Amino acid sequence: MKAGKKPKLLLINPLNSRRTGLAQNRDSIYPPMALGIIAALTPDHWDIELYDENFEPFSFREADLVGITALTATINRAYQIAGMYREKGIKTIIGGIHVSMMPHEAARYADCIVKGEAESVWKTILTDFEAGMLQPSYEGKLLPLAGSVSPRIDLYNKDYEFGTVQTTRGCPMACDFCSVHTFNGNCYRTRPLEEVLRDLEQIPQQNVYFIDDNLVGHNKLMANRAISLFKEMVHRGIQKDWWCSTSINVAENEEVLEWAAKSGCRMMFLGIESEDIEQLKASNKKVNVRIGVDQFEQVFRKLNKYGIAALGAFIYGLETDTPEKMRARTDYILNSGIDAIQATLLTPLPGTLLFDRYIKEGRIVYNNFPQDWERYHYAEVVFKPSLMVRDELDREVKANWARLYELKHIKQRFIRSLKKTRNATAAIWSMTNNIQLRNLVFENETEFFDLKSFLNENFGLDKLKKSTDK
Ligand code: SF4
Repeated sequence: MKAGKKPKLLLINPLNSRRTGLAQNRDSIYPPMALGIIAALTPDHWDIELYDENFEPFSFREADLVGITALTATINRAYQIAGMYREKGIKTIIGGIHVSMMPHEAARYADCIVKGEAESVWKTILTDFEAGMLQPSYEGKLLPLAGSVSPRIDLYNKDYEFGTVQTTRGCPMACDFCSVHTFNGNCYRTRPLEEVLRDLEQIPQQNVYFIDDNLVGHNKLMANRAISLFKEMVHRGIQKDWWCSTSINVAENEEVLEWAAKSGCRMMFLGIESEDIEQLKASNKKVNVRIGVDQFEQVFRKLNKYGIAALGAFIYGLETDTPEKMRARTDYILNSGIDAIQATLLTPLPGTLLFDRYIKEGRIVYNNFPQDWERYHYAEVVFKPSLMVRDELDREVKANWARLYELKHIKQRFIRSLKKTRNATAAIWSMTNNIQLRNLVFENETEFFDLKSFLNENFGLDKLKKSTDK
């Protein structure tokens, strides 16, 4: 640090260097909220720069301290960037979900690692650094969310199409393939609605994504909280178009859907995973089991009734999957009336029960870590399936993707979504998701589909929006 000058904190959002699979999709759309929060917690006597690889590959720039956040699929890039600074004797800190699950690995590549949510320890880290006493490891606690800072959205790249807001963290469920409960805790921690609304009002974009893992939750209390939030958005005239993740129980209380729609909800992401009840039980997907597979299509229709598109997540490569079962899943999806489809390959991420089990059983094939984490992006078979050989699963999944993301089907789905939701934004977001997934799973194999040109040529995008959106 130079005397008389503010110290500079450089915060970096790295991208999977192969830019493949969902590693590209998930992060290319949304601002890096964890870094926005870290920036907001940093005292004023620091200069802060946030560098976001979603827009431009990182190149070296001066800093006194470097903070990097990473997911499993982006961790190698994080290690690589950390290496650039360590060579020059500049201290680096890495945090995020991957580091929290693999702290011993991460400790080899950074001067300091943060396990768990960083809020509770960030100020201590900076004080220790300024005193020349940065420790190799810190462990964050799960703090209550009341009174938490608003992220520094002024530091985000202005080209993000969606702003983000968070209302809860944690999940009381423990699905086999998910690490949310391990990282963010196994109960809902909620932010006071007043604080959520304050953040929402600050978002410059028209489009918003609620980054909660489940905005509406699994119980009556959480559903009522969601209704209160939506009503207050309407009363305050917060006119955003938004989408969120939630679960299949969302349609049990139609008042939730009614107020979600009135407050601007255009799409809901639902973790369906499979249409096979035994697979849902085996994956510990309790809420889907409780609602019952025969009710899923009814849920999609209810969402559409309120002008909301249903984006369903499905998994190929589950434990009892065979080629026949995967084809049956594709038939089910194509006939289900769902608007958008995120069909990915089962991916055992560190921190999940699935990963621990596969490690124990010696079934993780790509295990040259950390290099092989690059492959953990939901579009590559990284484990030994139980009822198929790996090549067969790979071949089958590609054949199923080809059916799901066939342009003919995507276009038909768009027209159907438009008719059923009577909302152009809902239909366009669904189609955007379908096209993004198509472009991702077939990267380099098929011609890139230009959605905007398609919509303009066939419908006149602006005219379409004006004629359907209220
Ligand atoms: S998949 Fe969804 S419901 Fe299951 S544990 Fe993760 S966040 Fe919770």
